[in-house]
Amino acid sequence: MTHYVTTAIPYVNAAPHLGHALEGVLADVLARHWRQVGHEVRFLSGTDDYAITNVLAAEAAGLPIDEFVSAQAAQFESLGKALRLSLDDYIKTSSDPRHRPGVERLWLAVQDADDLYRREYVGLYCVRCEAFYEPDHLDGVLCPDHLLPVEEVAEENWFFRLSRYEQRLLKAIESGELRIEPEQRRNEVLGFIRSGLRDISVSRSVERAHGWGIGVPDDPDQVVYVWFDALGNYITTLGYGSGDPAYQRWWLNSDRRVHVIGKGILRFHAVYWPAFLLSAGEPLPTDILVHDYVRADGHPMSKTRGNTVDPIGLVDRYGVDAVRWWCAAKVRNVGETDFTEDGVVAAANRDLAGGIGNLVARIIGLTADTANRAGLGAFNEPISAARSKCSHAIERLDLRAAAHEIRELLANINRHLEHHRPWAQETDPAVVETAASATGVVVDLLAAIVPEVALSAQPRLDGRTVGPVYQRIE
Ligand SMILES: [Zn+2]
Repeated sequence: MTHYVTTAIPYVNAAPHLGHALEGVLADVLARHWRQVGHEVRFLSGTDDYAITNVLAAEAAGLPIDEFVSAQAAQFESLGKALRLSLDDYIKTSSDPRHRPGVERLWLAVQDADDLYRREYVGLYCVRCEAFYEPDHLDGVLCPDHLLPVEEVAEENWFFRLSRYEQRLLKAIESGELRIEPEQRRNEVLGFIRSGLRDISVSRSVERAHGWGIGVPDDPDQVVYVWFDALGNYITTLGYGSGDPAYQRWWLNSDRRVHVIGKGILRFHAVYWPAFLLSAGEPLPTDILVHDYVRADGHPMSKTRGNTVDPIGLVDRYGVDAVRWWCAAKVRNVGETDFTEDGVVAAANRDLAGGIGNLVARIIGLTADTANRAGLGAFNEPISAARSKCSHAIERLDLRAAAHEIRELLANINRHLEHHRPWAQETDPAVVETAASATGVVVDLLAAIVPEVALSAQPRLDGRTVGPVYQRIE
């Protein structure tokens, strides 16, 4: 089976924050899990360069836009490396030669379907969201997401006939052809569509975009709306419309086309993007998996509040697996989660140094020949249950539930050992051997979440090397 997994591509107006790390880790666990169970996986991430908000940030920094964007994008790429994301591809939309021609082809396909028209428009715009708001969706005069003032914009733009796709989108989501997890997010999307879809503006004047963006084909006054352009990245990297076999393999004929996104950009991915694809006559994503946000000091992280967390600094201080484990084991998939550095340290010490580290040490201490694994014996059933629960949890992006299953299995092995007390009395060697085999499965289940811990635990369990699996963080 072929599975295509993507993260959203963030604006690069500021340095990456913990939310970007969270999304990368969640998507990476899914990609690693699917590779581990034998699927062919392509995992894509990147940066969204053509936002007006990037232009404003570059102007504030006194740098040419392309120079600013490329320096910022490099930081996001470093974050991916620091987190050991197992990426197969990475796109920077302003410099990737595959992107612009792909967006132009997508535009022309939508135009051929007679879904584009030009009209005068007046609306309230949040430049940070790069989206228009209806007055009744605002928080007073502020964008509900950014709590920044929206600006009134009046210009002639290209519009996309979103209204045409209301029924087809409802059908795709209700039937599960397009699966949205968790349930609450699916209901939000259905509610939004049922309230009625209005056509949306999909271009900006060259002037307002400060000349930054992909030109609308045959219209020198307009650039393509950054969301139309950015969403296109999921297929432009596959060579959409160019005859590239990657497109056939990873989109057209792929078994799963999976987008991992934050809850703030759900409408763009679950309504606009599928509508563009329907218009262009291309298949829809099969899964949209939505994560929630992390907060600090009880507030959403924001530059203005000064409570953002630098994820690369965190990895430098505590190691990649501590950060990955916190993202997986502590972050709830519905409802915001408070971040603290103490929380990262406590979870790593308890579960990685304690949990799996202690269990492996215990097993090694009990026998010189753990490589001689008996079958799983009494563990057969709990292990197949844990495997299947873990796999289902990961596939709905509920990594906290997956981590919980792994901890339960680990506790189960410890209880088995404490029951037989092989360190205190003559015991059937099968007791330790089955525990060793079961511990091997725990390591296997951990591998997608904390790959370095798994790499360190396996050879110790096999008796090929010695020393602690994971150093406690002091
Ligand atoms: Zn906003």
